[in-house]
Amino acid sequence: MRDHILVCQFDEDLVRKFHNQRLVIILSDFNQVQQAHKLVNDCQNNLHCLVIDHAGSLASVPFHEKWRGIPLALFVSEIGAFKEVMGKLPLLRDLNIRIFLSTDNKENCTGLHILASLGIDCGVSFGEKEIDWEAMNDLMTYSIYGKVNHASIEPFQFIARNYNPARLTDLSSVYFDNPYTYIHIDKNENIALTANDLKEGKFILKGIENVHKIFEDEKYQEALNAWQKFLLKENGCAYCQAWRICIGKFSESADKNPGCRQFFTDLMEAADHFISVQQKNKRKEVWQP
Ligand code: SF4
Repeated sequence: MRDHILVCQFDEDLVRKFHNQRLVIILSDFNQVQQAHKLVNDCQNNLHCLVIDHAGSLASVPFHEKWRGIPLALFVSEIGAFKEVMGKLPLLRDLNIRIFLSTDNKENCTGLHILASLGIDCGVSFGEKEIDWEAMNDLMTYSIYGKVNHASIEPFQFIARNYNPARLTDLSSVYFDNPYTYIHIDKNENIALTANDLKEGKFILKGIENVHKIFEDEKYQEALNAWQKFLLKENGCAYCQAWRICIGKFSESADKNPGCRQFFTDLMEAADHFISVQQKNKRKEVWQP
């Protein structure tokens, strides 16, 4: 079984301890981009992605030519001054970047639509406020069914690419938070299964040398099956058709804001459509000279 990708805050001492490790590094500052990239490579690790959560707008990000080729996930509050963004467009299109906009700002669905149509890969970041599921459905429809060329919008493309009716498909991977693939570690080498667990001190192991032992850990196996608790509850999630791709992620708001059910059901249908188009295209393949 392949080792997990480790997710941690940027800490030079911690990064120097890793060797041959796939890493997601969370930065607190744009000035750290090149430094973190260099350090990860110098220590013979494999950089999966650098993550930056920027409280400001996309327009205010100081993009740099030297970021070319560095995998980046950038979370911003909004697009901001469009003229500024258009000025940065040639560089933005050239970077290995995905830009996430939060659902907490109602304008951001339009923002994501614009970014994708400009050829910039982007994604939805699910916030704290009530989600407009209809607007989300429109965006997903554009992302999956749209005929005009556009860049990808996550997590829709992730679900479409990975959907399998016979098992669960967890969109948390898009946010580096699926314990099948990612685990989280702090500078004291405490290991947790999710970003939230790490924040709350719910550690599962300690010590980098123990990372590869996690598959044998009883608590790890229990955590992977934690979703089963939803099925014991007498609430909507247990009977939801879209359970396989939502896994109860919006269960706390589902009573008050039940649009999640229709949205995820439509996303499942879109994924089916995506798979059937791919299969059709495959059948059309002919021999190559
Ligand atoms: S879509 Fe809503 S009702 Fe269905 S599993 Fe997710 S949170 Fe529960």
